[in-house]
Amino acid sequence: MINKIATNIFQLCFKKFGSCVYLLKLEKTILIDTSTKENKQEVLEDLQTLKIKPEQIDIILLTHQHYDHNGNLNLFKKAKVYDSKNIKELPIREIKIIKTPGHSKDSLSFLYKDVLFSGDTLFHNGIGRTDLPESQPEKMQDSLEKLKKINYKILCPGHID
Ligand SMILES: [Zn+2]
Repeated sequence: MINKIATNIFQLCFKKFGSCVYLLKLEKTILIDTSTKENKQEVLEDLQTLKIKPEQIDIILLTHQHYDHNGNLNLFKKAKVYDSKNIKELPIREIKIIKTPGHSKDSLSFLYKDVLFSGDTLFHNGIGRTDLPESQPEKMQDSLEKLKKINYKILCPGHID
C-alpha cells in the first residue's frame, strides 16, 4: 500500500511483517529502508506504480541493519547504500542525520524539512524495543530526547500498525 506523505515523499507499507519503505524524490531518488525479503514483490510493484525502476534508485539510507529493514538491497544495483558506518559522506544536504542509538547501536533517524524518519526508535504509539542483543537500552532516553527537540510535523516511523 502506498501513502503519499508529501508531494515528493511516499510511504510503502506491507501486509506482511517488514519495515515501511520511504521513497523520496529529491535531486536524487532515495529510499529509506527496504523492508524484508518476504515483501520483495510488493516493494517492486509499489515502485512500479510510482513509475520508479529499481535501477533509478540512487541512494538507500538504512535506519539500522535489521533484516526487516535491509532485506532487498540486491534489487537496487545502482544505489549507494548508507548506514551508520559510512553515513558521514552523505551527498544530500537537505537530509539531516541524527544518531539515535537505543533500539540498536547503529540506529539513525533522518530529518528532511519537517518530516522525521525515525526507524525503530520512535513509533506513532510508542518506542522501539531495547531488549535485543544489539540494543543499547541506556542510550534510548537520550535519543528520544534528541528527537523530542526537533520541530518536525510528520513522523515516518519504521513500522505502523
Ligand atoms: Zn529493528
